[in-house]
Amino acid sequence: MADPQTIARLYAEHINPGLVRLMHFAGVDQMEVRAEGVYVYDGEGNAYLDFLAGFGALNFGHRHPQIVKAVEDQLSRQPLSSRVLFNEVTARLAHRLSQITPGNLKYCFFCHSGAEAVEACLKLARLSTGRKKIVSMNGGYHGKTLGALSASGRHLYRAPFEPLLDWFTFVPFGDCSALEEAVTEETAAVLVEPIQGEGGIIVPPDDFLPFARKVCDRVGALLIVDEVQTGLGRTGRNFAIEHWGVAPDLMPLAKSLGGGVLPLGAAVGTEEAFRPLFDKPLLHSSTLGGNPLACAAGLAALEVLESERLAERTFHLGNLLIHGLNNLKNRFPDFIADVRGKGLLVGIEFADEDGAALTATMLIKRRILTAYTLNNPKVIRLQPPLIVEEHHISEVLSAFEDALAEVRSLIAQLA
Ligand code: PMP
Repeated sequence: MADPQTIARLYAEHINPGLVRLMHFAGVDQMEVRAEGVYVYDGEGNAYLDFLAGFGALNFGHRHPQIVKAVEDQLSRQPLSSRVLFNEVTARLAHRLSQITPGNLKYCFFCHSGAEAVEACLKLARLSTGRKKIVSMNGGYHGKTLGALSASGRHLYRAPFEPLLDWFTFVPFGDCSALEEAVTEETAAVLVEPIQGEGGIIVPPDDFLPFARKVCDRVGALLIVDEVQTGLGRTGRNFAIEHWGVAPDLMPLAKSLGGGVLPLGAAVGTEEAFRPLFDKPLLHSSTLGGNPLACAAGLAALEVLESERLAERTFHLGNLLIHGLNNLKNRFPDFIADVRGKGLLVGIEFADEDGAALTATMLIKRRILTAYTLNNPKVIRLQPPLIVEEHHISEVLSAFEDALAEVRSLIAQLA
């Protein structure tokens, strides 16, 4: 097996030297060689507790046995579709998604990533309403393809590509009156995350999402609820929008939909939203989208979500984690400005970006994997696989306390 330095050099020479610099700066100099459950292992056999879970792609943990088995079985039959004949596993997953998602999301378009799922929803909203404008949220994150980026709210990622699509108007997340003002008879859709993930784990006021539904209905616009990061049990419900009892018209899904084993994305939507594709079924398509191998992973993932009652246990474990972090906030008020989240999507906002970056580095040193939120580097996220146990949470809380103490003493020495 190659040593981590050789692999870092290959990254620097053939992937991106800037990424290697960033990883070294964050204290990462090891190479992962295998993973199981909530742990990732390096070549020396060290175990890292995974509290990032691949940015939310590993709700079921690494290599969940039931999902791996379903994928192995499918692999031995047929991994990719001929794309000429019908395929059972693809049809069954679309059917299962229509049953498990909130409201009346009857139809499904399969792809591989969150950004692609968002692109499909944006195109469907335009097609089905015949309108061009989309209202999106400041700080929102929907991916980095050109359409999804145009809908996302961080200047740093947008600026080099401007002008982006001019379909979008932005409003502050959670602001009902700004939303009401922005949504007009020209609005095709409102695009919103039920809880902003990369924006810094922000839970909206309770009236916001029901209000968004009402405002859309008033003018005949669609409500697109992006559950790419919040879906599949992450926040203590199968889908985060269920906390507010709101039925979307379109919902992009990805990340954990592939069971932590394969890439899989989906745009699910009402019959109304999908109707324009009925006459022109190839107007939007993807060669490998909905392949049997990924769909086998998706079907098994949905079974595990239900049979292990992951949403319920997540709600309980999330409360434990948030309670423990609030205690730390009281002990380290000079660093921690806020603790927030729902279920196991938890953000810790620091007083400044340096405090967050240093603490994340100290956690990695203690073999706890985490990262900042992409649109808000002041916030460290804790989002472990949903199969995590209470003792892992205690372990992370105590490592967090140690890390904060070390950051405090480092800063004192520098002062
Ligand atoms: N939507 C949301 C809410 C996300 O959090 C993300 C990724 N963090 C995406 C879309 C984009 O997903 P992907 O990286 O798979 O394109």
